[in-house]
Amino acid sequence: MAPRKLAAGNWKMNGTLAALDQIDQLLADLPAAGCDVLICSPATLVHPMVVRAAGKLAVGGQDCHAKASGAHTGDIAAAQLADAGASHVILGHSERRTDHAETDAQVAAKSLAAHDAGLIAVICVGETEAQRDAGETLDVIAAQLAGSIPDGATATNTVIAYEPVWAIGTGRTPTNDQIAEVHALMRDRLSARFADGADMALLYGGSVKPGNAAEIFAIPHVNGALVGGASLKAADFGPIISALS
Ligand code: PGA
Repeated sequence: MAPRKLAAGNWKMNGTLAALDQIDQLLADLPAAGCDVLICSPATLVHPMVVRAAGKLAVGGQDCHAKASGAHTGDIAAAQLADAGASHVILGHSERRTDHAETDAQVAAKSLAAHDAGLIAVICVGETEAQRDAGETLDVIAAQLAGSIPDGATATNTVIAYEPVWAIGTGRTPTNDQIAEVHALMRDRLSARFADGADMALLYGGSVKPGNAAEIFAIPHVNGALVGGASLKAADFGPIISALS
């Protein structure tokens, strides 16, 4: 089994019900599905987006708690996302790691909770600019992979996204060689640790746009993208999906 190709959108803290018009537009223009398409919406929009998407694209959350339920005001359980119709959840995004001081161990615990609820965990890793400048990128990525992915991860329940922190929302992207180097390392580490690690989908994320998507998708071991800003408008996300299809 080759890794499944996945075009994933991350709407972050953007969008109200009115934004679901973009789903209608996206579905109207969606090319014959040559890849899986996912949008990770704010929690408030998961269920309405599932209804609007009518099974034509997958919907995910952007975080979940490590516990199944309980006294955790403001948090959301993986089973609640699943109940709302989500199939995926982003975990360990750098904005969560920064804004909420999430550690690799917490990301692994949340990923386990996602798996227990039947969700696919989209686990994010990525170096800061200072770490890249210090020549630490490969060590940082290897450590985040080792610490953030729980035992029991498989190519069916886990997707890995490489998102250099300095490339997120900045319009800057690594060179193709830099992306290739990290993705090759990830494939090596995952294949060494997991029986089907060779089949786990590896996404690149960070300033993916219609203009650079095709070039990025041609890089070995890049099986798709996690797209922030350019996933908000069907006119931008559609061409990215087409480039992967
Ligand atoms: P960006 O965000 O595409 O806006 O850079 C990517 C992400 O954070 O997932």
